[in-house]
Amino acid sequence: MIEVRSLSYRYPGSSMDALREVDAHFEEGGFVAVMGSNGSGKSTLAQCLNGLLHATSGEVLVDGLNTNDKSSLTEIRRRVGMIFQDPNLQLTSVTVERELAFGLENLGVDREEMHKRVEAQLKLFNLEECRRSAPSILSGGEKQRLAIASVMLLEPYYLILDEATSLLSLMWRKSLIDIIARERVKKKIGIVLITQFASEALLAGRLIVLSSGRIFFDDTPREVFSHVDELLSIGVAVPIRARLERLL
Ligand code: ADP
Ligand code: MG
Repeated sequence: MIEVRSLSYRYPGSSMDALREVDAHFEEGGFVAVMGSNGSGKSTLAQCLNGLLHATSGEVLVDGLNTNDKSSLTEIRRRVGMIFQDPNLQLTSVTVERELAFGLENLGVDREEMHKRVEAQLKLFNLEECRRSAPSILSGGEKQRLAIASVMLLEPYYLILDEATSLLSLMWRKSLIDIIARERVKKKIGIVLITQFASEALLAGRLIVLSSGRIFFDDTPREVFSHVDELLSIGVAVPIRARLERLL
């Protein structure tokens, strides 16, 4: 479990907290969506969960390991996979194939097993045809698929997607959520899906809504989306259905 206890974070040189006394938990095998307007603190929270940012006060524990404890960071990053909005930040290899193999090599997976896993992942994410291409020449959607495929290949215990589907077509967004949901059940991965799409948040078991660095709602998506006016007032999209019900 990832436990967030009274977490505040302030960027160096800033005069305001980006996160203010956030309490939350993320279970292995759970599916939690996070929504909030631009600047509400979603990405800051994501980066606190895998120790890229360190709590200014309060603490984050990943299966008991404190992200403020430097000696735990390697293990924390192995457990918590992170996918950013901009895939260019995490694609570093010369070809698509190498990108997928890279992390497995670092984990010391043997060649035959590595080959097998890379092939399966190329197929699952429909990247077979560009296997020898440089990641830099791929389309935005292909890059995002590759970034997600590479991180998932390392079998993290938790997977954080920070608006990682924003460049994908509607079709790919749906099928990606399907893949992730299936893997979650199969491998008990805990998913934290930061999204601007109410339709994606509806698939989660829990929805956290941030506003100005604080938790505004933390409940089932159904319950959260019943607060149409409050959500719209803090700039969070609600499903069309909820809005219609409110009008009627
Ligand atoms: P979101 O992902 O919800 O759009 P962020 O977590 O990126 O929000 O930002 C939360 C707050 O922190 C915003 O007020 C933003 O301006 C500020 N912020 C984000 N990144 C930095 C940074 N590197 N330095 C200073 N302030 C930042
Ligand atoms: Mg963000």
